[in-house]
Amino acid sequence: ATPMSVMVGVGKAAEAGVLIRNGEALQTASKITAMVLDKTGTITLGAPKVTSIHLVHAKEKDRVLELAASLEAGSEHPLAMSIVESAQEQGLSLSSVKNFKAIAGHGVEGVVEGKELLFGNEKLMRDHSVNVNGAVDVAQQMAAEANTPMYFAVDGVLAAIIAVSDPIKEDSIEAIKRLQKNGIKVVMLTGDNRATAKAVANKVGITEFFAEVLPEDKSDKVAELQMQGEVVGMTGDGINDAPALALANVGFAIGTGTDVAIESADITLMRGSLHGLADAIAVSKATLRNIK
Ligand code: ADP
Ligand code: MG
Repeated sequence: ATPMSVMVGVGKAAEAGVLIRNGEALQTASKITAMVLDKTGTITLGAPKVTSIHLVHAKEKDRVLELAASLEAGSEHPLAMSIVESAQEQGLSLSSVKNFKAIAGHGVEGVVEGKELLFGNEKLMRDHSVNVNGAVDVAQQMAAEANTPMYFAVDGVLAAIIAVSDPIKEDSIEAIKRLQKNGIKVVMLTGDNRATAKAVANKVGITEFFAEVLPEDKSDKVAELQMQGEVVGMTGDGINDAPALALANVGFAIGTGTDVAIESADITLMRGSLHGLADAIAVSKATLRNIK
């Protein structure tokens, strides 16, 4: 395309809240055959809320929330923020945490009031030999309803499972349908567990998804699709997504996402809506048509 037609295209896209950082991305967007979407914060709002607390070996929900929130106060993960917010809403006071450690894709650990706390997914529990027998059914049920079950252990014993729900953005279903109507294969990628991922994918009409993907493995999925001959668009909001955004043929960042994601992407969706994807592709097609 001529520099002039690219400039016009970039301007058109900007009107739709789609910021295109380089002209090449605008020209490649129309050739995308597969769109990879991160789940949390991309398809969903990324603002999870605690929906229920199921006690296993603990006696009081408030006590569980108090300890869990004290631990999570040191984390910037959206799941962590939902726990801290919930504790604040209950008027609970938090204690300080020692030896805090975040384990990417698994959860967090630390010491609060002299107790060794672990908080995260089932894998985190298994890695620390915490017995989860008898709780897996409850967690599965939570996940089937599109909640993310978080396991909470105190001194090596499973205390409770906290269910957190992250609502799907109101226009994600429509926006995904638009991509599919354009003949684009839509794939969802998430670090979340399989059952939750499946429930969310079903709700938004995505049949192909990969769950329990570790942060360092997200870009491998993009590479795999490229090796299958796909021209890959990747859309994400998190630090986790940055390498995949950089590797994709066109990277799309959610405007409300992390700076690292925005810097790694070619295009930023300022409105956070996934409609920006089909909008960008439409502008790209129009731009290329103009120069023929
Ligand atoms: P994503 O952002 O794609 O859902 P992550 O790789 O950030 O995936 O996290 C994967 C899983 O690890 C989460 O679904 C959760 O079960 C667990 N996890 C990660 N960080 C935390 C945290 N701070 N507190 C509790 N669990 C966490
Ligand atoms: Mg995300």
